[in-house]
Amino acid sequence: MTNPVASLFKDGRRTVLIADDEFINREILSEMLKDKYDILTAEDGEQAYELIRTHSKTISLILLDLIMPKMGGLELLSAVKNQSEYAGIPVIVLTTDQESEVVSLNTGASDFIPKPYPRQSVVMARVRRAIELSEDRRIISDTQSDIITGLYTGEYFYEYAEAFDKLHPDTDMDAVVLGINNYHVLLERYGKEHCIELLGLIAKELRGQYPDGKAILCHKEMDVFFIYCHHADDHAARLGTVGHAIDCSYSGVKLKMGIYENADKNLDLQNRFVRARMAYDKLQGNYHDDVAVFDNEILEKILFDEQLCADFKTAIEEEQFTVHFQPKFDITGDEPVIAGAEALIRWCHPALGMISPGKFIPLFENNGLIYELDDYVWHKTAAMIKEWRGRCAKKIPVSVNISRAEMYDPNLANRLLHIVEENKIEINDLHLEITESAYVSDSSMIITRVEALREKGFFIEMDDFGSGYSSLNMIGELPIDALKLDMLFIRSAFKNHNMKMLDIVIDIADCLEVPAIAEGVETEEQYLKLKSSGCEIIQGYYFSKPLPADEFEKFLK
Ligand code: C2E
Ligand code: MG
Ligand code: MG
Repeated sequence: MTNPVASLFKDGRRTVLIADDEFINREILSEMLKDKYDILTAEDGEQAYELIRTHSKTISLILLDLIMPKMGGLELLSAVKNQSEYAGIPVIVLTTDQESEVVSLNTGASDFIPKPYPRQSVVMARVRRAIELSEDRRIISDTQSDIITGLYTGEYFYEYAEAFDKLHPDTDMDAVVLGINNYHVLLERYGKEHCIELLGLIAKELRGQYPDGKAILCHKEMDVFFIYCHHADDHAARLGTVGHAIDCSYSGVKLKMGIYENADKNLDLQNRFVRARMAYDKLQGNYHDDVAVFDNEILEKILFDEQLCADFKTAIEEEQFTVHFQPKFDITGDEPVIAGAEALIRWCHPALGMISPGKFIPLFENNGLIYELDDYVWHKTAAMIKEWRGRCAKKIPVSVNISRAEMYDPNLANRLLHIVEENKIEINDLHLEITESAYVSDSSMIITRVEALREKGFFIEMDDFGSGYSSLNMIGELPIDALKLDMLFIRSAFKNHNMKMLDIVIDIADCLEVPAIAEGVETEEQYLKLKSSGCEIIQGYYFSKPLPADEFEKFLK
């Protein structure tokens, strides 16, 4: 936030308005102050008021004579103090009688300077102090409330919310997080200025829905508002009203709300809002729901995730992670022949039992632990390939999954090469599966990275094809060596008896001159249909579940 007081002065100099009808008084004060301050002077009350009106943003202090023609000093003082725009400007009254001093102070003057004027140093000290006090006050009030919306900023919000709790310990309160969906898209669409107006409008509507005394409102981040309010059952309706009000000027703006109802006051406020935020985060990517309430399911998921992260290091040290292998069969001939395998990680947790990667891979992708985990799996897989080379007749490539997060590591190819060299296996022994959604999210960067991997000789399988949204003209450019059809895609094709789509996808692989691999094949019907459609390779429970290395070895003998 910019310093709100900075606009008051240029080059560090403040402006002082001297309003006195006597020329000599104006002269004396100007002489005393002119080295340090820019001076404006007025000969009567009306002129002074006009100068305040036109210079309200730059005047730092008014020195005000009480007896002046046209408009007296007291009248002017109360006019200034009653006008919110000017009320913050401090006023020092210049006066001869002590009676007026009291009246002036009661009307809002900050201080007074007696006539005849005291020494220059005394006048300077009083002027400086009045300005400093008022600037401190303005800084405080401006950082308490956010410039764009006038709502509290985060820090003060928590303070006020805490104060509210102290005053009303028995009132049930809700912590609510309200956010604007896809704010960055709106910025593109409406431009920054309009988006700032939008924020102001939302704030105004929120004030209407959550009135003072029953709620404390905060503009927390650019696109996020916090509301701490009396417990209510109608947050969704209020959200609807706010949404409706802004929809007239900003069509397509979608607001979402996460609520932590009857918030546990034993938790600190930040944590109560963390919970509301978790409910809110659950709505991301959900097109149907606008409101989510924090519940035990979310809490359990958080605690579960926390435990997984806390246990990660020990799990690696104690080798609780194991790699299972699922065979891939070539079905182009009369009999299916084993043609490869996929390495899939499992976590055998001492307290929680077997945990599937769907539970921890996305979590570790988010917090960066995935790098260590992937390294672990790649090492174990390469070591296993080497062992099998030594004692098994069949040589098959084994694919490892390359998490989406890995694609951002410029050193990825070197890390993989190092693993290949260290284990003395061939580059094409280790295939790489890269999920389709990775290609879509940042395609040009990912394509460059994948090309680099291919140049080194790695065989790339595009995983989960059909789950993402790669456009047809993009597919033609993709550097890939095999297309692995998404399991859910295959499942829904069979469920809806829509074999046409399946045929199209297999045709795409054909056009790209790469083999189509179907995963998640569970039944003979699926197997036969895929075979007749020209799918070359199949992986799935129909042949085998992923198996521990020693059990998998039977396929190689
Ligand atoms: P994915 O790479 O698409 O792996 C295929 C998933 O389908 C595996 O689930 C596999 O066990 C399962 N599967 C295979 N055949 C069948 C079947 O016939 N029916 C059913 N219902 N499921 C089948 P899993 O092992 O739970 O892995 C889930 C996802 O987790 C993987 O999807 C992959 O994206 C990720 N993942 C697994 N292991 C690793 C790993 O070591 N590193 C990284 N980065 N990701 C991994
Ligand atoms: Mg895979
Ligand atoms: Mg897959």
